[in-house]
Amino acid sequence: MIQYYHINGELTPVAEAQLHVTDLAIMRGYGVFDYFRALGGRALFVEDYVRRFFNSASLLQLEVPCSQEELKERIQTLLDQNGEEKAGIRLILTGGYTTDSYTPVKPNLLILQHLYASYPAEAYERGIKMLTYDYRRELPVAKTINYVTGIRIQKWLKENGADAVLYYDNDTIKESDRSNFFLIDQSGKIITPKEEVLPGITRMKVIEVARELGFTVEERAVKLEEVFEAKEAFMTSSIKGVLPVVSMDGKAIGSGQVGENSRQLGLGFEALVERYIMAKV
Ligand SMILES: *Cc1c(COP(=O)(O)O)cnc(C)c1O
Repeated sequence: MIQYYHINGELTPVAEAQLHVTDLAIMRGYGVFDYFRALGGRALFVEDYVRRFFNSASLLQLEVPCSQEELKERIQTLLDQNGEEKAGIRLILTGGYTTDSYTPVKPNLLILQHLYASYPAEAYERGIKMLTYDYRRELPVAKTINYVTGIRIQKWLKENGADAVLYYDNDTIKESDRSNFFLIDQSGKIITPKEEVLPGITRMKVIEVARELGFTVEERAVKLEEVFEAKEAFMTSSIKGVLPVVSMDGKAIGSGQVGENSRQLGLGFEALVERYIMAKV
């Protein structure tokens, strides 16, 4: 059981963890966050996530009230205190207790720990179905707490038998609501959008793994039509790892089955995770 969160520098029992209602996160949805896994009581790729969290904060002109080193120490303190082998860690930085309901003040820094629920195993076996949706994320490089569109269209996705969305803008694909997107073309090249997407940590690690495995990886603008000509496709995120995609807008991608390359990249990524955790213990 998760007993503690780390709120504004203090280990705080979960039942006592609270923010005042005037927080700009409530008033205006102003804040940033990050999310990553912890395995064996160690935070996975923590330096990458903490760096991104600071970058998101700075894009919203919010100052994290401690150093990156201090934040990593607080995360480890929380993990040690809760003593769970597997967990998810969520960092949140809000606009703080505004007095005019608009101007950011002293940000609140929350470190939450959740029990980690793995994504359902059968999704990796059968692959998932996506629908395209015309949407441009605001400040795409920042991991803000604004998921209005992603949440609002969940019902529409379900009603249409889909598992996830692929955002595109001007015929150029971007990413899913909480995951990055990759395709593998008929020649076996791996292609993923580069501009105006969240710089996913899983995305970055999977690109590393792919190059180690001898794949050619292109990071560039990707046209919507390329998705329909692809041999394979997959999404990446901290929660999902490498999740194969087998259909887009009701049309099969490649054979309509989970591709061999996607599977290999998924295993390669999990091996990298193992190596990281083993090196840390
Ligand atoms: C969190 C997120 C991702 C995935 O990033 P990871 O660091 O791999 O978890 C991709 N796109 C969006 C919009 C996200 O919020």
